[in-house]
Amino acid sequence: MSKIPPHIIDDIMQASRIEEVIGEFVSLKRAGSNLKGLSPFTDEKTASFVVSPAKQIFKCFSTGKGGTVVSFLMEKEHFSYPEALRWLADKYGVPIPADEPATAEQLAAISERESLYIINDFARDHFKNNLHNSEEGTAIALSYFEERGFRKDIIEKFQLGYCLNTGTDFTKAAISKGYKLEYLEKVGLVKSKDDRQFDFFRGRVMFPIHSVSGRVLGFGGRTLFTDKKIAKYFNSPESIIYNKSEILYGLHYSKGDIIKYDNCFLCEGYTDVISMYQAGIQNVVSSSGTSLTKDQIKLIRRYTQNITILYDGDPAGIKASFRGIDLILEEGMNVKVVLFPEGEDPDSYSKKTSTIELENYIKESTQDFISFKASILLKDSENDPIKRSELIREIVHSVSLIPDQITRTVYMQQISQQFEINEQVISNELIKLRKNVVVKQAPEPDFYKIPSPDLQNQQPEPQILQEVSYINEEQLIRIMIKYGTRTMQYDQIDENNQTVFSETNVIEFICHELNEDKIEFKHPIYSKIHSLFLDGIAKNELLSINFLKRLEDQEIVRFVSDIESDEQVLSSKWLSNYNIITRTEGDRMSETVMSAIYSLKLSKIEEHINDIRIKMGQTEMLTDELLMDLLAEQMVYEKIKIIFSEKLGRTILR
Ligand code: ATP
Ligand code: MN
Repeated sequence: MSKIPPHIIDDIMQASRIEEVIGEFVSLKRAGSNLKGLSPFTDEKTASFVVSPAKQIFKCFSTGKGGTVVSFLMEKEHFSYPEALRWLADKYGVPIPADEPATAEQLAAISERESLYIINDFARDHFKNNLHNSEEGTAIALSYFEERGFRKDIIEKFQLGYCLNTGTDFTKAAISKGYKLEYLEKVGLVKSKDDRQFDFFRGRVMFPIHSVSGRVLGFGGRTLFTDKKIAKYFNSPESIIYNKSEILYGLHYSKGDIIKYDNCFLCEGYTDVISMYQAGIQNVVSSSGTSLTKDQIKLIRRYTQNITILYDGDPAGIKASFRGIDLILEEGMNVKVVLFPEGEDPDSYSKKTSTIELENYIKESTQDFISFKASILLKDSENDPIKRSELIREIVHSVSLIPDQITRTVYMQQISQQFEINEQVISNELIKLRKNVVVKQAPEPDFYKIPSPDLQNQQPEPQILQEVSYINEEQLIRIMIKYGTRTMQYDQIDENNQTVFSETNVIEFICHELNEDKIEFKHPIYSKIHSLFLDGIAKNELLSINFLKRLEDQEIVRFVSDIESDEQVLSSKWLSNYNIITRTEGDRMSETVMSAIYSLKLSKIEEHINDIRIKMGQTEMLTDELLMDLLAEQMVYEKIKIIFSEKLGRTILR
């Protein structure tokens, strides 16, 4: 892939709306001029994830992550920088000039992760092509989908395909395309046996499994043979791009409606999702290939608090829904259940009914989990008091998993009414069960944690000096980023020793001042930003904050957008107080700049003096001559220190 030209990057960033992109992953709600939601990077229950549409940045206060829409995609989707840009260009219809063919070197540089994505994309397209354009595909696979009642547009939308039954069709195509066998095997599309390769999914219709943003992570393949000895479904293995327990089939298509209807229908498999979607119920996902996991529930929680389980009414379906209920309750979410008539799943049932009938069925058959569990368990315990008490205990057990006490109490009252049992009795049982839950959920105590090795071996004093110096470096860099393009006035001594009034911009002034004393930034990020500013000056360009936010280097982007979001948080939280401070900082530019420069210079001098002290302390290496030199050097620095301190208007006590 060739490089995207800078002006196209500008176009892409201009066109992109961070709130829209992040809104695809996280349900965002207005909070003043910002949007707020649950962090997609942690498992949090109170929202600390903020998006600023005005500044086009985000900040996650629980992980510290932050940056632009590009940073977000790189973090969340593990895109590379160009991938994130291309994804946005695609979404917002910004044309990118055609790629020049990649050199061998560029190809080799593409990471393994990216290679696996590329292979999956290729496979999806190959399988789609087979389905629509090959004789075998149209005759067997397309007609199969049509018989199942899948509409053309739905087949297209879900990118369904077919892997030919010849055994090596896909493998050959992929190898001749130059994809590494190692990678083809890693995504599970190709299997090797005795040095021979064959298509893992041969003779199967293919369901691509997408990430939330629509990347193909893996496949499910259904055989078209009726032979009972052949497994009906094959699924891609886990790989570095496919972690089954964290993926929900269909979420890429349904997230919008899940937010819209504030509810997520959960069913068993690919065909259920597709059929429901086709029937017009589009807030639907499935946990195909695995039984429902905690991580999958957390994934849903980003969009809604409400899950409705739609399972088959056979014993296996009921058992699975019981397990699902407890997991969902444990995550503090609301769960309801719809049971389909025995022998029917959402797929088959939706085929027999109109959309209205299906909607009505779902509406009328939706049960809260207590009634659901009761109706199932009561069936064979109606008149048996022992079984009846077991059933109640079973239901109270589910309630005990709910983290929120008020919700637990509400359900407890419901059980009491429904089964005509004294509330106190249930409450006692609940307290007993709750103890186990709390113990189980308690986190590991902190004292098991071993201190990280780099903290153990630090020399205390230089460390502190280092940090002081970083703080001063940061302050200066921050000023360059925030106010760099402003002009500032200062007095200069000319060759006739006259004071003349001069004017320049903040960036040039600071860079010049630092250069005078040969001061460099030690902190790697600040040092990088400093050299960017220097490069800019050499080219007669003043770098704006937006320029910095568009760089590939996400460390810089995060730093820059943190500066912006700090400002924002301050001004929104302590509006009056901090407004004054920020305003004076900006108003008295020269003072602000000078004080930052001299603070940094001073901390550098102190570092020098400290170095000298350390050298003087190393007695075994110290000759008289060397000691004199060091003392002289120290005196010079002490003098400079006094000058700088005076400039700073501070007295130094040490
Ligand atoms: P049939 O035409 O016989 O009803 P089906 O393709 O509808 O077959 P079912 O056996 O009804 O499949 O299963 C329902 C759903 O469960 C399917 O949509 C499928 O996605 C999912 N499923 C079943 N077995 C597996 C499996 N081994 N791995 C992943 N998903 C599976
Ligand atoms: Mn079925």
